[in-house]
Amino acid sequence: MKPTHIPFNKPYLSGHELLYIQEAIQAGHLSGNGQFTKRCQHYFEQNYHIHKALLTTSATAALEMAALLLRLQPGDEVIIPSFTFTSTANAFVLRGARIVFADSSPEHPNIDVSQLESLITPRTRAIVPVHYAGVSCDMGAIVSLAERFNLAVIEDAAQAIESFYQGRPLGSLGQLAAFSFHETKNLIAGEGGLLAINNLEFAPRAEIIWEKGTNRAAFFRGEAAKYQWVDVGSSFLPSELNAAYLWAQLEQKQRILEQRRQQWQRYYKAFEEIAARGFVELPYIPSYAQPNWHIFYLVCRNLQERQQLIQHLAEQNILAVFHYQTLHGSPFYQPHHDGRILPNAHKYATRLVRLPLYFELSEDDQLRVIGVVLDYFTRLRKTSS
Ligand SMILES: *Cc1c(COP(=O)(O)O)cnc(C)c1O
Repeated sequence: MKPTHIPFNKPYLSGHELLYIQEAIQAGHLSGNGQFTKRCQHYFEQNYHIHKALLTTSATAALEMAALLLRLQPGDEVIIPSFTFTSTANAFVLRGARIVFADSSPEHPNIDVSQLESLITPRTRAIVPVHYAGVSCDMGAIVSLAERFNLAVIEDAAQAIESFYQGRPLGSLGQLAAFSFHETKNLIAGEGGLLAINNLEFAPRAEIIWEKGTNRAAFFRGEAAKYQWVDVGSSFLPSELNAAYLWAQLEQKQRILEQRRQQWQRYYKAFEEIAARGFVELPYIPSYAQPNWHIFYLVCRNLQERQQLIQHLAEQNILAVFHYQTLHGSPFYQPHHDGRILPNAHKYATRLVRLPLYFELSEDDQLRVIGVVLDYFTRLRKTSS
């Protein structure tokens, strides 16, 4: 008989989601920008030093808003890590921008800042750091480089709610930032996201783009005499039902984080020995980063061992998964890439594996995962010695 299934992820449920959704229904306001939306936005502005927060239907939508706000022209260049989700790049490709892909660091999957300056040209408009696994990029170096060359910094903070750079909240360090509440993230709304606006100049236009190119939000605040079409825009607002769900999650943030921290650290301790023997690399957390324990990963020595480990776990009914394929090598973008080889992006694309990590993962189940991983490496050691 197969042992019980351990999934890779399970959406967290606080227990108050239905209550708040019911409240939203009773309030008779189901479209966007109602009481729950305002509460969630206020929460982000208060807790994460964000000048203005706008709830969106996804982080993808928030990144698309950021690209619109930059008024990118075809041919403008945007520097993006190759090891990331398609949305990070798509948002800018949709505006006609050329993507200049940057490599990951040798120590961690985040963008390698030592190579950034060499990628800047007179056409460069923005750098988009992605805080992989909720671990901060080297924002000090990125922001000072951007200031020197007059570039925008757009943080892809999709995975980085409640993560910090030297004590400063991620999402508050770039001119603009995107968060995600997709069901795979730490705090969820089913689908959902948030645009953080830290540069005051973007705020009025952001609200217009958010509301289909109209001045609706200003009109309802009594700041405009007429409600009309004033700029480009789209439908970026989520329904109040999603915002109500998210509110129930935000209330439980500390509990979720504490549970994930314990699980993450249990994995880390359990694998220190195989790391010391050189079988795997463990996540590296730079001293400037305070993470939110979003992902626990191992980096295997090669693709073959990673696939064997995933297979070995699958045989015990445990789902472990790899992550992004490089974007510079993707079928869509490879023909447009300038040909530079990005060895570290390739390393994480071929060798990284993520282990189950979610609120309801019991200690017993986690110990089972650890046992099966260690068993794989014990066998490997025997066959290779
Ligand atoms: C999840 C994720 C996204 C997309 O978020 P959605 O809310 O699903 O659009 C973008 N970038 C990164 C790094 C992500 O992890």
